[in-house]
Amino acid sequence: MGENEVGRLYRPNTVLIAGAGPGAVDLMTLRCRAALEEAELIVYAGSLVNPRVLDFAPDGCEIHDSAKLTLAEMVELMAVGVEAGRRVLRLHTGDPAMYGAISEQINALAERGIACEIIPGVSSVFAAAARVGAELTLPEVSQTVILTRRAGRTPVPEREGIVALARHQATMGIFLSISAIGELVADLIAGGYPQTTPVAVVYRATWPDEEVVTGTLADIAERVAAAGIGRQAMILVGRALSREGALSRLYAGEFAHGYRRKKEGEKED
Ligand code: SAH
Repeated sequence: MGENEVGRLYRPNTVLIAGAGPGAVDLMTLRCRAALEEAELIVYAGSLVNPRVLDFAPDGCEIHDSAKLTLAEMVELMAVGVEAGRRVLRLHTGDPAMYGAISEQINALAERGIACEIIPGVSSVFAAAARVGAELTLPEVSQTVILTRRAGRTPVPEREGIVALARHQATMGIFLSISAIGELVADLIAGGYPQTTPVAVVYRATWPDEEVVTGTLADIAERVAAAGIGRQAMILVGRALSREGALSRLYAGEFAHGYRRKKEGEKED
């Protein structure tokens, strides 16, 4: 794209795909905002994109929630829009490259001779890391981050199962898996992480109802259940979360701190 001036983002015969960020409106990029301000037709992921980002769309902009559409319907909408010369924006949550199902959209649009350009966004994995003050790549502890998910309705290739990935004991950012936290923890331990490995679960990072639960592999499933978190959460795993070697003392302190902050935030509302 190379340009960020309003009006230069949309090219003929091209759909713009943008990551709207993890939730908080001011965490979308300036380029995403410019794309919104210029849009004439928007298809957004209603389940996770904050509807308040749509306030930046101009009056009269046609807006559709992709949760109510099949792939074919979505592609038809966007293709007809582009073919009519309209500025079409597809808004995803976080960054479109992570579990955005964009490839199937790009391919289907390409079949109609329509190109796509992508605007990156702040992924929930980084919003969650920021929330818990984590450096995911802590020197001498882990220099690798594995972004993954448990198999669900979408299968995961066997060689990428959690047990296999856990052998590296790298830092992990796990999407789409909170509803099976018990099984996830069992697989992480079976793969080789010690029970004392720190875990942070961030529910709806950067949203007003954000919640943080921290613990270790030994107790995180219990804590998540007690907090009633069953969806829309990022799971960060790894010794890097401790920030240093002194795991148990530091981590206990960090839990109290995160929990206290959340309680204070609630009172302000
Ligand atoms: N493209 C998105 C991910 C979409 S898949 C991104 O880059 O973040 C949806 C999953 O992402 C959810 O199940 C959850 O694991 C995670 N997720 C999305 N938004 C989140 C948020 N605000 N807080 C925590 N996790 C989030």
